[in-house]
Amino acid sequence: MKHYDVAIIGGGPAGSATAITLGRLGWRVLLADSAPAGRFRVGEGFPPSARSLLNDLGVLEGFLDARHRTSYGNVSVWGSDEPHADDFIFHTHGQGYQLDRAAFDQQLRTAARQAGVSVHASTRLSQTAAEDGFHLQLSRDGQEQPAHSRWLIDAGGRPAVFARQQGAQRLTDDRLVAFYLLLHSPQGTDQDGRTLVEAVEHGWWYSVLLPSGERLVTYLSDLDLLDRQQLLSSEGLWQQLAQTRLLWELCQAHGYRPGTSVHGMDAGSGRLSLFHGERWAAVGDAALSFDPLSSQGIATALYCGQHCAQAVHAALQGDPEVLPGYADLLTRIYAAYLSNRQQFYGMEKRWSESTFWKRRQVRKALFNSAGRAKRAGSSDLGLT
Ligand SMILES: Cc1cc2nc3c(=O)[nH]c(=O)nc-3n(C[C@H](O)[C@H](O)[C@H](O)COP(=O)(O)OP(=O)(O)OC[C@H]3O[C@@H](n4cnc5c(N)ncnc54)[C@H](O)[C@@H]3O)c2cc1C
Repeated sequence: MKHYDVAIIGGGPAGSATAITLGRLGWRVLLADSAPAGRFRVGEGFPPSARSLLNDLGVLEGFLDARHRTSYGNVSVWGSDEPHADDFIFHTHGQGYQLDRAAFDQQLRTAARQAGVSVHASTRLSQTAAEDGFHLQLSRDGQEQPAHSRWLIDAGGRPAVFARQQGAQRLTDDRLVAFYLLLHSPQGTDQDGRTLVEAVEHGWWYSVLLPSGERLVTYLSDLDLLDRQQLLSSEGLWQQLAQTRLLWELCQAHGYRPGTSVHGMDAGSGRLSLFHGERWAAVGDAALSFDPLSSQGIATALYCGQHCAQAVHAALQGDPEVLPGYADLLTRIYAAYLSNRQQFYGMEKRWSESTFWKRRQVRKALFNSAGRAKRAGSSDLGLT
């Protein structure tokens, strides 16, 4: 049976960033990711300010060689009927990207392997507590393989199954859900790499042109305010899209039609009540999850992954005092995020009777984030 210092549940950005950092520090690390190879997933907007995180992880060169789509800014219909363009050219960090997300996640796992990490793709990791750490079970294609680790990191995304088994609770701040669809255009005339955002009476939409040439359209609203069955039906989301202005005009101009079925997922804001415990820590969406309006999920996962690794590195060397500092960092990031989220939503005042917007109205006037609906001239949320 193989023995590891650290086992990581989940090979998304958070798990890989943690694994790369721990691997380079010389620890024996196992990283398991259950997602089927090449599976499509949403979460593609990569803001300009996040490039430095890839540099810190030593993966920027490979990233720039990959086929992600360059994004020069955002266009939003938010707080007013007029579209507002925010060009990244006016910001210090340069261009952003619409990621080929499967390729991006794969690149990070490859970097983890190069850092000496034992990477297990398409493999589910489960565990039971042992006196000196955890007994592990790696499951792939019906085959089981045992292993052992001293430490365990939950980077398994929003469900945070392991952290919750350890007694942490998921504290949620809203019930936002996302419904998305990929559109196909026979014309192939669309070249707009910008993120389009449009507020509507009961929520908001965003759309991006993916590197594949497909256009992603995503509707976000609160779970209790929408008709889930209707949205998931073949024409449901498409009919809802027809109520928009900017996005519908774009679809008409390029002859877009639905190319896939509709998928729904949790997109709410939340955090764990506990970020670490006896021989374990949580990172990425497992620890903190953000509203997609922020476009900060991946950057935060990369940033916190490196900090989580440093805290676990210290603990493995006999200094557990660094872990509370890590928890404090996450608490501060989440507080800053909530404040920014309130600023964004507070800007939209056109539907004063709408429950969705009423839940999100605030009085503060400051505005300071790098999110999708960002206005020209505002400064980035400084994560680094
Ligand atoms: C609709 C929507 C749009 C978004 N858009 C953006 C965006 O534009 N920009 C942005 O920065 N962020 C965006 N996000 C957020 C972003 O996708 C996440 O913040 C990011 O993926 C978090 O990375 P992670 O590594 O923590 O978790 P994940 O990327 O969720 O990775 C977790 C991995 O763990 C695996 N796993 C779970 N359990 C196990 C197990 N037991 N064994 C092995 N593997 C396991 C899962 O299969 C998964 O691959 C969006 C989110 C939503 C919902």
